[in-house]
Amino acid sequence: MTPPATYPDAATLKQWRHDFHRHPEIAFEEHRTSAQIIEILQAHGLEVTTGLGGGTGVVATLSGSRPGPTIGLRADIDALPIEESNEFEHRSTIAGRMHACGHDGHTTMLLGAACALARAPDFAGRVHFIFQPAEESEGGARVMVEEGLFERFPMEAVYGLHNWPGLAAGEAAVHDGPVMAAFDVFTLTLTGHGCHAAMPHLGSDTILAACQLATQLQGVISRETPAHQSAVLSITQFHAGDAFNVLPESVELRGTVRCFDPALKAHLAKRLNEAIQALAQFHGLEVELDYQARYPATVNSAEHAARCARVLEAMPAIRRVHRDLPPSMGSEDFAFMLEHCPGAYIWLGNGDSAALHNPAYDFNDAIAPLGVAYWQALVRGLLTTADT
Ligand SMILES: [Zn+2]
Ligand SMILES: [Zn+2]
Repeated sequence: MTPPATYPDAATLKQWRHDFHRHPEIAFEEHRTSAQIIEILQAHGLEVTTGLGGGTGVVATLSGSRPGPTIGLRADIDALPIEESNEFEHRSTIAGRMHACGHDGHTTMLLGAACALARAPDFAGRVHFIFQPAEESEGGARVMVEEGLFERFPMEAVYGLHNWPGLAAGEAAVHDGPVMAAFDVFTLTLTGHGCHAAMPHLGSDTILAACQLATQLQGVISRETPAHQSAVLSITQFHAGDAFNVLPESVELRGTVRCFDPALKAHLAKRLNEAIQALAQFHGLEVELDYQARYPATVNSAEHAARCARVLEAMPAIRRVHRDLPPSMGSEDFAFMLEHCPGAYIWLGNGDSAALHNPAYDFNDAIAPLGVAYWQALVRGLLTTADT
């Protein structure tokens, strides 16, 4: 039996999405969200495994009507610690919490696809629908991988998507390789001898050293990155001093480094450390550097990206599939899943909305049926030919 193509209909998707939007929960606190997801999946007869990813992650498994390979589809479910500025009826009801990255929409679209496929499992193989907590900064995908996602739910390939403001609704983008950058953070403390501002020769000027470092580190990025590759360093915090006439004993700088290539990432981390040590030595300062790799780059397999593009190009509701957009210097913890299992992560146009992480952002309800249709087409397309 082939169900109506519109199941669940756009009104149901909107109702689910607005409910998630009104009740945003941040990393690893997605208890209500998780309970709603479980309730909807179970009401549609899906086999559900709960308590994953530190507690709030859920995997639903669905077998097709014929045997075949297994794939995974992933949605992130968390919100952000942002105060929403929108005034519409479905705005956040929780102070300082907001679905400003559209994960309410991602959750809704994967739920919609799971329910539609459960109604008509006319495909060969199995699908694991992965509802992952804590995408924002906390690496919920890494937690799921470390607790055995791919051992417990073996799969040949895993797929993800993100809504993309600025890309027209009805358009999509698929990258053959890197799609989102690796994300490192650092905290750097320079310590010397504080002294009177009128007599800098009696102490050491940590402020001057920190200012020189802020410019010199940009030189490391621009001179050590091959011109055909991309890397960006931003110093985002600069903390020092509290008097007009005192050179402070210490300065703390914080920032982030992003790039795509793991070898370049390692090289830049080494050269930044060398530049910091050399400059600190010149100024007679002690240096403490805490450099942490947070997310690796999100890198699509060209083969799986091509399959996603073919599926999208065959969808009447998708007007255009971009194959040549530059990757984003933003980051995504789906990278941890792609490190362990091949797959691809696509962008679905959110239209002319506010940017991701902006307090005026909202997921575009008009694209929810497209996302549901894409997931279904991917499953039916990939798992009909026993080709994942
Ligand atoms: Zn985000
Ligand atoms: Zn996001």
